[in-house]
Amino acid sequence: MTDSKIRVVVVGANGRMGREVAKTVLNDPLLELVGAVDRSLDQVDVGIVTGYGETGVLFSTNLGETFVRSNPDVMIDFTNPNVIRDNVYTALDYGVRPVVGTTGIPQEDLQAWDGILREKEIGGVVAPNFAIGAVLMMKFAAQAAKYLPHVEIIEMHHDQKLDAPSGTAIKTAEMIAKERQRMEQGHPQEEEKLIGARGADFEGMRIHSVRLPGYVAHQEVIFGGLGQTLTIRHDSIHRESFMPGVAMAAKKVMAIKGLVYGLENLID
Ligand code: NAD
Repeated sequence: MTDSKIRVVVVGANGRMGREVAKTVLNDPLLELVGAVDRSLDQVDVGIVTGYGETGVLFSTNLGETFVRSNPDVMIDFTNPNVIRDNVYTALDYGVRPVVGTTGIPQEDLQAWDGILREKEIGGVVAPNFAIGAVLMMKFAAQAAKYLPHVEIIEMHHDQKLDAPSGTAIKTAEMIAKERQRMEQGHPQEEEKLIGARGADFEGMRIHSVRLPGYVAHQEVIFGGLGQTLTIRHDSIHRESFMPGVAMAAKKVMAIKGLVYGLENLID
């Protein structure tokens, strides 16, 4: 049976998300962890770091070398926006399918990766949020925007997050923007007494980012109408909320060609 397992390298495997992902892969009967890469750790057994127990798979700081040695089918990357481009191009060079949770990736990169994946006739997945509840929040928000087009997004994350606004907030705004006309919100003459008070502007929608210790990943989408408001809220209270989505993507990516952007496009 070992031969039929999907061979996975986890990149950023010593990070908050990466450790959870490595543990998930180790516990999934259809996946096999064949490599763990992190710039912060070398030659340590990944099972020790994740609390799984010894596995014989040692951390490496070298992605290309790990690909050559372990011949993986899939790379799962949870690193950071500054290194993700290099990691994906390395994966593409070696014919390894990228499953990317790292956020803050520009649209142009997604388009470029899609083109290369199609040429190579292999799949890739990029999802700003792998939690099913968050995907439903985005879908419901897009639906609500048809009837209540005045909307603001507040996202709340732990204070070690590098990118703002979150990938989930941007994706939510993109999905809402498909359902409503561009419109300015608030008073036409409103004035920010402190720069940034009204948040970021996405096609007239305001996005506010809160960064505090104690949070994992949370978002509220607030709609305002005549005499009423509607709030759609999702909370990831533990990083395991993302794991079923990550494991599903690592399996489904084997059957697709080109890039799928967003978990919602894998489940419907
Ligand atoms: P983290 O800082 O805890 O972990 C990142 C890890 O990547 C670190 O261990 C770091 O040493 C490693 N790293 C950095 N550069 C590297 C490189 N060049 N090669 C190999 N390893 C490298 O961060 P985190 O909280 O685990 O988040 C990681 C990413 O995942 C962020 O972009 C975050 O926004 C995103 N995220 C996505 C989802 C989702 O569902 N898609 C959920 C949570 C977080």
